[in-house]
Amino acid sequence: MIVLHPYLPGCREEDQAPTWRLIEQASKRWPVHDVDLSWDPLYGYGASLRALWDGDRDWLIIEHDVEATIEDIKAMEDCPELLCMASYGHSGHAAADLTSTLVVCSSLGFTRITARARQLCGDWPVPAGTSYHMLDSWLTGALAAALVTRTGRAWHAHRPVLHHHSADMV
Ligand SMILES: [Zn+2]
Repeated sequence: MIVLHPYLPGCREEDQAPTWRLIEQASKRWPVHDVDLSWDPLYGYGASLRALWDGDRDWLIIEHDVEATIEDIKAMEDCPELLCMASYGHSGHAAADLTSTLVVCSSLGFTRITARARQLCGDWPVPAGTSYHMLDSWLTGALAAALVTRTGRAWHAHRPVLHHHSADMV
């Protein structure tokens, strides 16, 4: 499993600080791929994931303002499911505790996307010209649709994680 850490330099850096501390800890146990999105804040996230789509490593995405723990990462790595997510507070809504249920997932903030799930999904499913605003819903929806069709499974929920800057995000 590789940890993918998309981040935007200079964007609410006080909210990124706990995530950077987690990433530094995680880098002692897992390969970490920091994805600097400053070259294209709108489309760079999608382009970066697309470039890695056909790879044979499972992904754990940790976005730059999501704070989880090493135990949360370990639980993701050890999980037998093919798609895993943790809920978090967003747009003024508190994180829902969906632990151990199969759910609809619409955000990539702390998600495990296995190579097997990507293979079942096939080609990169996000339309050209999709900015980061809609990337989450396209990708999570396409992966879930492929998995439900082929395996009868959907996103597996782990315990909620913290999302900084969640209260006033629009
Ligand atoms: Zn899981």
